[in-house]
Amino acid sequence: MRISYTQVSTYQRCPQQYKLQFVDRIRVPAGPEMHFGAALHEALSFMHDPRRLRPPSLEEVAEAFIRSWQAREREVKEETTRQSLFEQGVDIMRRYYERHGRPEEGRHTAATELSFTVPFDGQHSLTGRIDRVDALPGNELEIIDYKTGRRMRPRNEWEKDAQLAIYRMAADHLYAGTKVTTALVFVTFDHEMRFALPAEALAGKREEIRDVLVGVQVGDFNPRVGPHCDWCGHQAFCPLFRAPVVPAGLEVDIAALLREYAEADAAVKQQEGRLTELKQQLHEYLDLTQAERVQGGAFVAERRTYQRVAGFDEARLRELLAPLNLWEQVKEVSPSALSKLLRSGGLSREQRRAVEAAISYTDTRVLRVKPTRGSEEMEEQAE
Ligand code: SF4
Repeated sequence: MRISYTQVSTYQRCPQQYKLQFVDRIRVPAGPEMHFGAALHEALSFMHDPRRLRPPSLEEVAEAFIRSWQAREREVKEETTRQSLFEQGVDIMRRYYERHGRPEEGRHTAATELSFTVPFDGQHSLTGRIDRVDALPGNELEIIDYKTGRRMRPRNEWEKDAQLAIYRMAADHLYAGTKVTTALVFVTFDHEMRFALPAEALAGKREEIRDVLVGVQVGDFNPRVGPHCDWCGHQAFCPLFRAPVVPAGLEVDIAALLREYAEADAAVKQQEGRLTELKQQLHEYLDLTQAERVQGGAFVAERRTYQRVAGFDEARLRELLAPLNLWEQVKEVSPSALSKLLRSGGLSREQRRAVEAAISYTDTRVLRVKPTRGSEEMEEQAE
């Protein structure tokens, strides 16, 4: 089976989206950001084309972007979005050119838009395309991938991404024996991240890719709901999101049902908020009046304060309890085990004091409001 980085990452994000896109081959129109990214990629590829004998001028690079954008802009329906993306693109390319227009000393581009196919586990292959490969001094190479999105994911998220691992496998295959790093260039942010993936991380990624291959082969395409659903282009075809098929005879006023649910939900939230305020006011009243019980009308409020173990000095406890053969009783060293030990009566007064000194406590205040008569009772708990 052949699988690309895009397919691996799509499956990992949502197997159902993988199915809709790559098995059912449902085509959905690309959004403005996709066209924008493609135009930037083309302009960057033009700028770094290794077949060029001299570096291009800023005007030539800007023209390359404009050409690519004009070939796509009719796909962007909204005039303001179209104009805004065009202006942003020209500005991004100008800033990029100012930083990278002159090749760095000792660095030159070896390839752009490099397609690869890497054997994987004998019967599979991983495919993809590398935006750019630069040769560095000392027989080193750098794989460069342009990111043109509006969001810059943090470094630790990228380290978990299968893309870096697949690039590393591609580099090991294409340039065996050469030291290769990977750089992600966030074009819109004018920022770069460099990665040298260790061999241990690569083993874990291989396992993840195997999981994806098995999932695809056995047809495990369960939808995985998450924030990514908001920008899933296949949402209209997803079983979790597509319009329901209402069976004949089913008469439910769904609009009324939803409205009532939303109103009830809002009312409960409002009540919860009010309850928190009332609870706070009661605590304040009891604090100010230095009382733990107050009666008003048909109700009475009572407050109890309980001390609970919040933390402990484990080394000190071991030192105190091990000689008494009591350490075993608290070997799990949990607040409940310590409370049990203190209640057990197995410690002398001095030992108890020493143990208590190694423990920190927190107060938990419990407030009860109940009718003075009858059995109805409301209980509230507060720290
Ligand atoms: S809408 Fe969400 S759950 Fe459905 S296919 Fe898209 S990403 Fe998957």
